[in-house]
Amino acid sequence: MQNKNKIKQLVKHNCASYLGDKHGISNYCCWKDGSCVFFDQGNPIPNCRYFENGVLPTDQKLEREYKLERNMEVDSQIAKPKVNCKKCGTTFEANSNRQSYCEKCKKQNAKEKIKLRVRKLRQKEA
Ligand SMILES: [Zn+2]
Repeated sequence: MQNKNKIKQLVKHNCASYLGDKHGISNYCCWKDGSCVFFDQGNPIPNCRYFENGVLPTDQKLEREYKLERNMEVDSQIAKPKVNCKKCGTTFEANSNRQSYCEKCKKQNAKEKIKLRVRKLRQKEA
């Protein structure tokens, strides 16, 4: 499994249940009260609901791989990239990778463009 290492990294860094070595158990998970399933070498396709709901969504590319591998339904909305608006900084789901402004700022930008165009036209007239 190619993404197993990526999943482990994500668990180590982002899973609130992952506590490392505790109670004499390595890769201890307080949610499962045992070893984290993703560190179990004998399990080729481990899955964890806590991870799927709380950790995996932070890495959408991996989420897609993870779900495809487990024949889980891949929500097309999940595939949308999360982008920080260049203008106001809010995180939003972009419809394309080129979209860099949220809907609100996009509208504002359009308005400003019109304003600019009008101003230019006026300058020409003057
Ligand atoms: Zn914005």
